Amino acid sequence: MNMQSLESRFENITVNDENEDQYAAPTYHKSKVLFSPVSTFTKAEVIKGSLSTAISLSSLTASAANNRLKLPLQKLPNTNAVKLASNTSTTTVTKVTLPSQAAQRPSDILHQRSSDPVISAQPPPPKQFHLGMFEIGKPLGKGKFGRVYLARERSTGFVCALKVLHKSELQAGKVEKQVRREIEIQSNLAHPNILRLYGHFHDSKRIFLILEFAGKGELYKHLRKEQKFPEWKAASYIAQMAAALKYLHKKHVIHRDIKPENILVGLHGEIKISDFGWSVHAPNNRRNTMCGTLDYLPPEMLKPGRDENYYSEKVDLWSLGVLTYEFLVGEAPFEDTPTMTQRRIARGEMTVPPFVSPEARDLIKRLLVLDPEKRIPLEEVQQHPWIIKHCVKGERAYQRSSGNKQRSSD
Ligand code: ATP
Ligand code: MG
Repeated sequence: MNMQSLESRFENITVNDENEDQYAAPTYHKSKVLFSPVSTFTKAEVIKGSLSTAISLSSLTASAANNRLKLPLQKLPNTNAVKLASNTSTTTVTKVTLPSQAAQRPSDILHQRSSDPVISAQPPPPKQFHLGMFEIGKPLGKGKFGRVYLARERSTGFVCALKVLHKSELQAGKVEKQVRREIEIQSNLAHPNILRLYGHFHDSKRIFLILEFAGKGELYKHLRKEQKFPEWKAASYIAQMAAALKYLHKKHVIHRDIKPENILVGLHGEIKISDFGWSVHAPNNRRNTMCGTLDYLPPEMLKPGRDENYYSEKVDLWSLGVLTYEFLVGEAPFEDTPTMTQRRIARGEMTVPPFVSPEARDLIKRLLVLDPEKRIPLEEVQQHPWIIKHCVKGERAYQRSSGNKQRSSD
């Protein structure tokens, strides 16, 4: 079985949030709730029981002898690879519903528990993900609130990334809503340049996100290593970003946190937007509570007026301009002390170094426009002379970087 068919099978599994809280308190029966406060889980746990045997990932230690992973796409290093012994009783609340057509296929028996009736007049019961379904591999990275591991779904061999978030840390950091929104938004997105969220589940202490594995890691690291990207590569990345953002905006999703740190790179060199923690459904009039780097903040989010920073999906266009600049120059256009950065963003004060081509400079200047309405729309970004010059359907540069291999994801 090749990876693509495995992936397509896996992708037929959709998380049905409607069924989410069968085991949770009645107040959580709204479809939007993806996980609930610990107190609610306690109730759920009582109903389901058997939580005591849930295996703690953090307690697993690396050992070469334990390494039993043979991943189809990449070799795992011997160190850190672990195999979960027996964790069949891990409690989950997330339901996964198979589309009826897909459910006909033998492979989908994968997700059929032995206790499930095979023939039933009722619609098939929702299927669940749980930790026991995954072999856990090497750690891929660590974020503010969680760790990410390479993982393989046992029955299909499907390789993915498993992000583990501790509920207590999310509560302490007051980011439960943010994570909930991240899950809600990301699980409804399917685009080759957006990191897929295939599903999620939780136990008493943790939330697990089943993510697409981005084999070449963070774009940020590539950029730091190469210092700046050649124009053909930057153009290819920006073309992919424009395609992804067009898709998002069509779905009325604003990402709001576009920067190299939030972009991952797939095995074939294609980019994948991740980190939907700050994304929202447009239009938005929430207060700006963002923290972290100011470099990518658009002027309308920086200087809230009377309307309490009512902003649109056009904020992502500004960030795309900052990204284009940083790809080509190696540093963000408004990089300075925090006060100066804010001042310069508000005035749109930046200079494009002379080594940047006139076409690229033109695109940057059309994106970094103070008036959100006057920024070049994504359709025009895709048709911009700089993009056209370097990309045939946004593909040429990508193919150059991956040895002319045919791309399978789109
Ligand atoms: P923050 O908590 O500030 O958002 P982060 O985005 O780095 O930080 P995570 O999303 O938890 O946090 O990811 C941690 C690291 O794990 C990433 O920086 C990346 O190197 C790696 N990583 C995350 N997801 C994947 C993935 N799907 N494929 C490959 N590597 C990943
Ligand atoms: Mg992040």
